[in-house]
Amino acid sequence: MEQESPHIQFHNDTEKHEYFMKKALDMGEKALATGETPVGCVLVHNGKVIGSGMNDTNKSMNACGILGTRHAEFLAFEEVLRSHPRSIFRETDLYVTVEPCIMCASALRQYQIRHVYFGCANERFGGTGGVLNLHSDPGIDRPYGLTGGLFRKEAIMLLRRFYIQENERAPVPKAKKDRELKDVDDDDKMSKDFVDILPLP
Ligand SMILES: [Zn+2]
Repeated sequence: MEQESPHIQFHNDTEKHEYFMKKALDMGEKALATGETPVGCVLVHNGKVIGSGMNDTNKSMNACGILGTRHAEFLAFEEVLRSHPRSIFRETDLYVTVEPCIMCASALRQYQIRHVYFGCANERFGGTGGVLNLHSDPGIDRPYGLTGGLFRKEAIMLLRRFYIQENERAPVPKAKKDRELKDVDDDDKMSKDFVDILPLP
């Protein structure tokens, strides 16, 4: 589905980045509502959302019997490519709630994305600094710009809400203290728990 978003005049870049990261968080909320890992993203070209995605790994895993590769970024790529040439990515920015994994970070390089904005880091599978630096390593495709930490707390809280939801569905729920929704401290290192559910295929 082509998402036509209005062409908005922003007063400054911060306002623009916050607007589009909130769109990505909205996609993460949708994922959470359907029991998926709450990671969401939007692809933005000339101030317009041209593609959006949320993780679809659980459902695709059930359908295929293998680990899902339907990360939010891939769904957004597919949407864009349905109605645009691949070259549009050179002038397109990605806003994603969690740092892209190694697989997605590599795909973004091959698509020659212009810039990636992400919320929280992915210390276990991150491809843009979390584990590898696929955005900037020397290579054939041009490197892409990177900005992290945009609405980091909100991105982490989405993931924590997912864990609480999953624990409550588990046959033997964990102790209550584990299910309490903790706030994110500024000095809180990215918790390792959430990345367990962002596996590579
Ligand atoms: Zn990924």
